[in-house]
Amino acid sequence: MSVSETIHRINSELPTGTRLVAVSKFHPVDAILEAYQAGQRIFGENWVQELCEKQPLCPDDIEWHFIGHLQTNKIRQIVPFVSLIHGVDSLKLLKGINKEAEKAGRVIPCLLQIHIAQEESKFGFSIDECRNILSDGHLKDLKFVRICGLMGMATLTEDTAQIRSEFKCLKNAFDEFKKNFFIDEPAFCELSMGMSDDYQVAIEEGSTMVRIGSAIFGARVY
Ligand SMILES: *Cc1c(COP(=O)(O)O)cnc(C)c1O
Repeated sequence: MSVSETIHRINSELPTGTRLVAVSKFHPVDAILEAYQAGQRIFGENWVQELCEKQPLCPDDIEWHFIGHLQTNKIRQIVPFVSLIHGVDSLKLLKGINKEAEKAGRVIPCLLQIHIAQEESKFGFSIDECRNILSDGHLKDLKFVRICGLMGMATLTEDTAQIRSEFKCLKNAFDEFKKNFFIDEPAFCELSMGMSDDYQVAIEEGSTMVRIGSAIFGARVY
């Protein structure tokens, strides 16, 4: 299937209110433009340098989402144009984004990344850590970041039951945090979960943003 056919097919599977982030990492600008022609406007990238090289070559109305692990010394490069940072997994990073956003005169939407997978290697807060940070109230002092929800990655496994239970766990945390810390903040509304191999399950479990790369653009050549 072509990039454009796949984009149309995936969009037809998404419930209203769930958005597709086309993950274009390691794929050339031409592939992004092909997806753009098919109507795709949200693109996700993992690497600051790659994102900063591609962004000026692409149409201005693309919403760029940073979905990788952001290092504090690279924040400044993406703050001028990024629309959403998915993987915020430390208070230090959040403070760093706040500082650079203030300098740039922007408020940056961010998602807190929660570690839901069994693998050790994936980044993210534990649910307890995240709850502690939210309950101590200091996040409200960071005026240049807006916490818009949570993000997580399930374990890479064929075991759908396990993937489902990890997504459920993330959805429960989202509901709990929404109720206890963001009840008056409509901006806290995003649950970013689901990739090429597990997005159908993620949708069933309440995802509002699926991040899909290889199913659209093919395998990545590293
Ligand atoms: C690469 C990546 C994706 C897309 O993965 P696919 O399996 O190619 O769909 C989604 N989310 C994150 C955080 C990624 O790093």
